[in-house]
Amino acid sequence: MSDNQNNNHHKVVIIGSGPAGLTAALYNARANLNPVIFEGLQPGGQLTITTEVENYPGFEHGINGPELMDIIRKQAQRFGAKSYYKEITEVDFSKKPFKLKSYDEDIYADAVIISTGASAKLLGLDSEKKFMGYGVSACATCDGFFFKNQKVLVIGGGDTAMEEANYLTKFASEVIVIHRREEFRASKIMLDRARKNPKIKFLTNKVVKEILGKEENGRKTMTGAVIQDTKDLSTEKINTDGLFVAIGHKPNTDLFKGILDMDELGYLKLKPGTTKTNIEGIFAAGDVADKSYRQAITAAGSGCMAAIDAERWLEEQN
Ligand code: FAD
Ligand code: NAP
Repeated sequence: MSDNQNNNHHKVVIIGSGPAGLTAALYNARANLNPVIFEGLQPGGQLTITTEVENYPGFEHGINGPELMDIIRKQAQRFGAKSYYKEITEVDFSKKPFKLKSYDEDIYADAVIISTGASAKLLGLDSEKKFMGYGVSACATCDGFFFKNQKVLVIGGGDTAMEEANYLTKFASEVIVIHRREEFRASKIMLDRARKNPKIKFLTNKVVKEILGKEENGRKTMTGAVIQDTKDLSTEKINTDGLFVAIGHKPNTDLFKGILDMDELGYLKLKPGTTKTNIEGIFAAGDVADKSYRQAITAAGSGCMAAIDAERWLEEQN
């Protein structure tokens, strides 16, 4: 082994620094495995783009997303976990030690935990970016509670949109589903359920052109949206307090295509009840392997599982 390989050779490399990756780091650090975390382009993960997290246990009055992630990172670092603010750009899991690359830097690992998360697909409007967390959201379970007795829009025509719309009626006084076509991609049962819900209205053949809002004393508030008809191109303004983008998620697994087993949507496939992928020594945790729950606490829980699975596997190798 060359000197360079020695310096860059770690027992455990964790890819991604959301709740899954940082929790895995905390556990592996406490097990004296000196894990290194490659934090990627979004250090702290998805929660760093949200304001209030009210459902993460341990914080009675809620906590700001970036602050929560900072605490978990510091907790892991206290036991020796190391963060690199770099992304992994290539992996070679065909031989041991596993080889990873961050651009032209080579990194070697005895075990790897993948926690690269998933990204909500977004509409791509500048105003959507501006009001994300200030009225615009991509997660009804996370943010629905903030819209008690308010009117909200849900964008999308698939099962996610129907599920989010139904869920939001627990809080909102009115939910308007906006879909770009006449036909829905959602399953019949989900669509029927939404159609039967008296609080839900549908606007079809419409797209969102702009999200409107104001900024006063540094505080941003969404106030409405401009909607365009796809047929006659007419536009209308809808006054609304919230807009939920529900046009699907994409797991961040491009790096592992052709290397690790994935389902048809690109989520990593795990051996049931474990965090083991199809390659021994490669584990996965969090949203990258979870299309169904996608919560911070479930990601953290599976990060803990991955750390324990990796630790046991390394012990078996020795
Ligand atoms: P993520 O948080 O997605 O983190 C992925 C990490 O992987 C990032 O650090 C990224 O930089 C890194 N990464 C990706 N590719 C690479 C690469 N090639 N190399 C290195 N690193 C890489 N959940 C709740 O429970 N409560 C809430 O209130 C809540 N609010 C939310 C609000 C918003 C706006 C959003 C978008 C989500 C919210 N969620 C909430 C969901 C929650 O954020 C996710 O379920 C959780 O963050 C998933 O954690 P994760 O560790 O799997 O991945
Ligand atoms: P999906 O089925 O791909 O649907 C995405 C919807 O968003 C489509 O209606 C699509 O419109 C619309 N859309 C995509 N990009 C858009 C854009 N830029 N602007 C406006 N609209 C856009 O995704 P999903 O709803 O997240 O579902 C993903 C998978 O998870 C599906 O297999 C689904 O069955 C499953 N799921 C199941 C449940 C459940 O059973 N409880 C719940 C949620 C999800 P078009 O139709 O015009 O393409």
